[in-house]
Amino acid sequence: MEMVDEWTEQLTCATQCTRCEKKMGADDQRILSVYDHQTICMDCKSEEEQRPDYEEVTKNMIGQCLIDTEMKWGDPQGYCYHHFYPYKC
Ligand SMILES: [Zn+2]
Repeated sequence: MEMVDEWTEQLTCATQCTRCEKKMGADDQRILSVYDHQTICMDCKSEEEQRPDYEEVTKNMIGQCLIDTEMKWGDPQGYCYHHFYPYKC
């Protein structure tokens, strides 16, 4: 359960992208990295999607996320979901 708490915390309002350090306002969309689960901006997400191992990493990440959080895929409040659907704080 510790892991879940950590993840939930990360969904709270980050003020900057953890990758490029671009400032993010309350109205800016953000998303979680499938690589390190950090909050990143949409530009960094686009770059991540270009990585050659993105698909494989994504597949592994989904499986592990659902196990760790015991959440159902597609839960709009779900941590796993926010790796693919942007959210605002
Ligand atoms: Zn960024």
